[in-house]
Amino acid sequence: MRTIFLLDIDCFFASVEMATRPELRGKPVCIGGQRNDRGIVACPNYEARAYGVRTAMPLRTAAALLPPHAVFLPGNHSLYAEYSERVMDILYDFTPDIEQVSVDEAYMDVTGCLHFWKGSASCMALAIKERMQQQCGLSVSIGVASNRVCAKIAASLKKPDGLVVVPHGKEQKFLAPLPIEVVPGVGVKTLPKLHAQGIFTVSDVFSRPLDQQSWIGRYLMGVAAGKETQRMQYNRVEKSISRDTTFSQDTCDRDLILSTLYYLTERCCKTLRRRQHRATTVTAKVRFADFTTVQKQTTLPASSDHEDDIFASAQQLVQLLLPDKQFIRLVGVKVSNLSDTSSQQLELDGGKAEKIDRLYKRIDALQEKHGYTTIRWGITQHLHKSFASDARGYRLHSPVYEL
Ligand SMILES: [Mg+2]
Repeated sequence: MRTIFLLDIDCFFASVEMATRPELRGKPVCIGGQRNDRGIVACPNYEARAYGVRTAMPLRTAAALLPPHAVFLPGNHSLYAEYSERVMDILYDFTPDIEQVSVDEAYMDVTGCLHFWKGSASCMALAIKERMQQQCGLSVSIGVASNRVCAKIAASLKKPDGLVVVPHGKEQKFLAPLPIEVVPGVGVKTLPKLHAQGIFTVSDVFSRPLDQQSWIGRYLMGVAAGKETQRMQYNRVEKSISRDTTFSQDTCDRDLILSTLYYLTERCCKTLRRRQHRATTVTAKVRFADFTTVQKQTTLPASSDHEDDIFASAQQLVQLLLPDKQFIRLVGVKVSNLSDTSSQQLELDGGKAEKIDRLYKRIDALQEKHGYTTIRWGITQHLHKSFASDARGYRLHSPVYEL
């Protein structure tokens, strides 16, 4: 029997806005556009839902339902991407066996690490919830079961801030009384057909003649029996990690460009270390003032998760890409060709790499504990003067996460 968590952030986009803008707390908030825009609501917070606003409702309909102090925001996707990454980083501290299914949702197979929590899935889930609240200001709902579908259904039942644990062997009993529409995949098209066949609850699939030849029939029988055969698709090794940023004004200031590049490299390396990956390929990217974008990549002599190795290459690449006195809008770095640190071979350099490794990990731990600016590299001094910082690092003008 496996133990699977499904973790889902409550009202993700709206919650991130509320976590970063305290003035929004307590107010109805709709992400998706302004109140008179023609679009739809991408994400209402719970205060807005209390007025009947739902996801995918036209913004104008939502505006008609909500009081004048409701806040409409277009959405800030680079901020959501940053938070999504923070959330996933926390999950990787608990288990490497993660299948991320969307920006704010992931399955975790915790079977192999439950012994750290004396076998208690609820203790572990509560610890995850506490970290999410402390480090991101986000509330999450977690469902725990022996398979994915059952965990997902469990997570959906007690939102927000829910925790529903289905004990091993009790899956069928847990699911039996629930309305059939809680099953993922049963949508507005399927539901009336199931109702027409007399299927209203999950357990009804056993007492009604269901076409077991059809995919949906077999699927529903499997779900209702508390069994699911679909295996987790672990994101153990990602394809690449990248960081780039647009400057608030186009710049040709080499010091600013290189200190920003170092900082972005540092962010990449921290993520590599947290996820126990090393990279072999480094790509640098520059976007000029006229929006033409150039990038160049190089292969490291050996895979690394150290700033000194990766920055040395990234810096050389940027020097090659950037003619003197040319103004740029954006600089970025990407590391790819990733491998697992755990599968690395022993080093033959007398332990030097290992010492550097320990140094970086110690710096990570100190910054984690006392804030990013406790230990700063000289080269990033330039940023210290220009950007505000928080526990995790500088708040750059525009963090963008795709290269
Ligand atoms: Mg969610």
